[in-house]
Amino acid sequence: MAAIPEGVKRLMREDLRELEPYDPAFRATEVNLSANENTWPVSEARLAAYQAALAGVALNRYPDPLARELRAALAERCGVAPEQVVVCNGADEGLFNLLLAFAGPGREVVVAPPTFEEYANFAALVGAPVREVWRREGDFALDEPSLLDAARTASMAILCSPNNPTGDVVRPDLVRALHDACPGIVLVDEAYVDFAGAGCSVAPLLDGCERLVVARTFSKAFSLAGARLGYFLAAPGVASALATVRQIYSVNAVSQALGLADLRAEAEVAELVRAIVAERERLAGRLRELTRELPVEVFPSQANFLLVRLPHASVVRERLASEEGVLVRDFSHAPGLAGCLRVSVGTTAEDERFLAGFARILRSELKERGQSI
Ligand code: PMP
Repeated sequence: MAAIPEGVKRLMREDLRELEPYDPAFRATEVNLSANENTWPVSEARLAAYQAALAGVALNRYPDPLARELRAALAERCGVAPEQVVVCNGADEGLFNLLLAFAGPGREVVVAPPTFEEYANFAALVGAPVREVWRREGDFALDEPSLLDAARTASMAILCSPNNPTGDVVRPDLVRALHDACPGIVLVDEAYVDFAGAGCSVAPLLDGCERLVVARTFSKAFSLAGARLGYFLAAPGVASALATVRQIYSVNAVSQALGLADLRAEAEVAELVRAIVAERERLAGRLRELTRELPVEVFPSQANFLLVRLPHASVVRERLASEEGVLVRDFSHAPGLAGCLRVSVGTTAEDERFLAGFARILRSELKERGQSI
């Protein structure tokens, strides 16, 4: 995107002038392991179900703004009432709407970085102050006492579980304590929860926690990142408040139909998720083997990505893209993430290609700079 000229900036809301358009530095590559998508093939049966679902969509008609059928299916999946489900154009839209409804000027949002950057970005868009409670350097553990302390005066506290990009999950009892401490909304972003162990979701807490909101998406375990479909779970009143600020037709008819089709293929999706989790462990194991020889640190992850720390991370990432056609995400210049790259778990073939290039390039960088391996 072009830079915003001063003349245009003067026309903008003053508090938004220094923000920049989102740019994750994507580029066309053969193997894209940079966005935590699901890169595994979708089965013929699922593709056929998509076709059948799309054939039934009346494109000349507006979609059901309340997405009743989809919400009913999601409610059943999650063990909540349909009134507790709000759908959105990707979890991103739901996050923005939640901040729009409950945060804003003078309404503080607590976040625990390093974490998903959109929380702070969306908070800025709605003019909400952000209070950062940094995770511990080294292992990224949450600073629980400071988090609870900060939450006491906040309008919203946000945790991501598994956390992007560090991969760790939050304990449900900490979420309950946060809900007790915070007078406002407590959001737990579970975009990656399908890849985490059983019992990791905090959705069961919705029963007793009236101000808890759980965010989910079809972009990860379900292979529908391009369809832009997410959903939020909350107490009925909170869900209604969220629905009040949403764009009425933000979830189009095609996406609603695809989501419904995939919920019917849930058993198959679960099998795919198990395969991705097994591949994550295999990839982590292969990376840990490298640590015997190379100065690489691999962080444990319950998501569909791994965070690794290494010397010359930016150069290695750049060379991986240009020489091997493998794109991973560079966090090495992000606060708290010095030397870190995030690699999405791909298929075994994609991951092997990444591993071979990664080891070769890192060895060559260390050698070139005279650093012993
Ligand atoms: N939350 C987290 C933690 C994410 O990583 C992402 C996607 N990168 C989202 C939310 C947004 O997901 P969606 O594609 O549903 O907008």
